[in-house]
Amino acid sequence: MRKKLVAGNWKMHGSHSANAELLSGILAARPFACDVAVCVPFPYLSEAAVALAGSDVRWGAQDCSQHDKGAFTGEVSASMLAEFGCRYVIVGHSERRAMHGETDAVVAEKAKAVLARGLTPIVCVGETLGQREQGTAQDTVKRQLSAVIHALGHCVGEMVVAYEPVWAIGTGVVATPEQAQEMHALIRAQLHAATPHAEAMKLLYGGSMKPENAASLLAQQDIDGGLIGGAALKHADFVAICRAT
Ligand code: 13P
Repeated sequence: MRKKLVAGNWKMHGSHSANAELLSGILAARPFACDVAVCVPFPYLSEAAVALAGSDVRWGAQDCSQHDKGAFTGEVSASMLAEFGCRYVIVGHSERRAMHGETDAVVAEKAKAVLARGLTPIVCVGETLGQREQGTAQDTVKRQLSAVIHALGHCVGEMVVAYEPVWAIGTGVVATPEQAQEMHALIRAQLHAATPHAEAMKLLYGGSMKPENAASLLAQQDIDGGLIGGAALKHADFVAICRAT
């Protein structure tokens, strides 16, 4: 039985005071039956590390460079994140693919860089509304995942995959449990062909997951947790989703 993981993706939200309130609310609600993580903006990583020290709530980043060091102004490497206790790094979020031109190849390199430093990449895949309407959702996800599988080789089993249909992100339109499960099952089948560890891998769903829809999504056979955007910014909502696992 896979232990569920609920990870908050704060995106570009937060402030000293808001973070303190959010993190203390999460800490006060422990223990949880699932693994819990928060992926916070870079400037707040070290304060999250301090606030969460000694607890089992993990923290992560929302992106990192595919390079380890060098003349890459504005970039942050996986080795920097590893140095002070980061556990997860989201890579290939659709916002980065769409707004920052990240290709499948770049996302794959980033996932590889994260694993090379002993951190866990949360690799995001997902189709746009147009792709779903054209019937190419499955091919899109397969192509995105296949680039990462290729790059990671025998380490494939160490990543977390998040299926985030772009049309569900921040829209309030959530995938039905059946739609999400169908794609998760395909993702797991693709992983089975690549690694003997596919059955143990965590596949998260992301896209308008809220307290009111979390339980039915999380009850699906191949949905092992959530990557939460908007609802991760209010501790009561985030905690409610953690409790729905
Ligand atoms: P929302 O939960 O706000 O739809 O965002 C999902 C997401 O993008 C998490 O990475």
